[in-house]
Amino acid sequence: MSEKGKTYENRQYNYDKIVAWIPHSGMYIPGISDRKKEYEALVRDAKTLCDEKADYLVSFLPNRITCGYSRFVVDLERYEDDSNEPMSAKGMGLLYNKLIDGTVFDRNPFGDSDFFIRYYHHKHSQLKEMVESAGDGCVLLDVHSFCGVPQKCDFDQNPDRPDICLGFNDDETKPSDEKIAEIRDIFEKHGLDVALNRPFKGSMTVKTNVRYASLMIEVNKSVYTDKYGINHWTGIIAGLIKEAVRILA
Ligand SMILES: [Zn+2]
Repeated sequence: MSEKGKTYENRQYNYDKIVAWIPHSGMYIPGISDRKKEYEALVRDAKTLCDEKADYLVSFLPNRITCGYSRFVVDLERYEDDSNEPMSAKGMGLLYNKLIDGTVFDRNPFGDSDFFIRYYHHKHSQLKEMVESAGDGCVLLDVHSFCGVPQKCDFDQNPDRPDICLGFNDDETKPSDEKIAEIRDIFEKHGLDVALNRPFKGSMTVKTNVRYASLMIEVNKSVYTDKYGINHWTGIIAGLIKEAVRILA
């Protein structure tokens, strides 16, 4: 195909069947002054665990759900019920009360916890509606980044982290092995090291009346961000995710 033909195809591709879930995009912490010394550690950790610029990687998708709040205020990824949520043992369930190193912090400045629980439900309903309107055969793309080195709160402490992690569940939402292998190949062809379900496993699901596949794509922050928050790999990885998405839907 000529270059011109390719461009035409790019323009025509319909991404309506993809719903991107980017729950850790935000860094906003209400009720605090980030210049006050007492909040320094909280602000630092919120930045460390934020999937900063992850939404840039999928900005070509029309259906995206992001979160403005820091995950330290409300973590949309977590199970609502702490007894199902392994990270709640680390003070990092739906509503965190511990920093990365396990130090307890005060949530009082954030305001009423019920508000954040309602916000969590609102975002989950929005996801359900988007998946249902995308219809049977659509794809839930769970987009994240992760730190280049394991953090104290992480279950996986292996220092050898991949560039890209592809996560999926062992249920009807799992994309086929062939598709996963094809997607892995796209990244590996560009010299990126890919792991499956490592250092984080699984992919977001939501109860709906449609059949959908769910894939988590996580990018190692040391690959696509630098001290300015973005580098030349950001665009390359966005392009590779675009290719990956076309395989899925
Ligand atoms: Zn994340």
